[in-house]
Amino acid sequence: MLLLETFAVGAFQCNCSILACADTKEAVVVDPGGEHLRILEIVRHYDLTVKWIIHTHAHLDHIYETRDVKEQAGGTIALHPADQFLYDGFAMQAAMFGWQVRPVAPVEHPLSDGESLAFGKRAARVIHTPGHTPGSCCFQVERESDDPLLLAGDTLFQRSIGRTDLPGGDFDTIERSIRERLYTLSPETRVIPGHGPPTTIGDERRSNPFVKP
Ligand SMILES: [Zn+2]
Ligand SMILES: [Zn+2]
Repeated sequence: MLLLETFAVGAFQCNCSILACADTKEAVVVDPGGEHLRILEIVRHYDLTVKWIIHTHAHLDHIYETRDVKEQAGGTIALHPADQFLYDGFAMQAAMFGWQVRPVAPVEHPLSDGESLAFGKRAARVIHTPGHTPGSCCFQVERESDDPLLLAGDTLFQRSIGRTDLPGGDFDTIERSIRERLYTLSPETRVIPGHGPPTTIGDERRSNPFVKP
């Protein structure tokens, strides 16, 4: 069985998710953009071992408490190398909002398209979907008795898509990523976006006003 907890964290209400293999209690934390105490509480409550701290991309709101989770729960920090410049610019991103932050904990594993990150008997498959940022990735997780899951970061939202006017963003690129890499997944795939309510690939193929199949 796969354990899944998703909740919105931080000033920008980024969806943070904790996925765990219920048999082995090995877990993945996705986008710890805030509320590390709540993350740690869940880790302790289920007696989880954090194997990975993975990021859909390196905007401030998705990496804000990566260091806190790393220091207090462990796990290998993973990010796509094309977003390293944003990760290294964490203090600058924070300064734009008048926030002072500690230096980031180093990335320990560069994500690459198509690889599988194992946690217990489960795995998160990496789909590189540039456009919102150059290193944006989605994570696909199969479930045996339920529809597959997709953690989509800020690439695909319910009836919307990620903005492309920030440094490194590009509309044609995000459009191609969504059309070729996401709309080709099974329509039942349940999508947990980086912000806002869940959706499915089928619903977005039918009704997303920004990217048509
Ligand atoms: Zn973003
Ligand atoms: Zn975001």
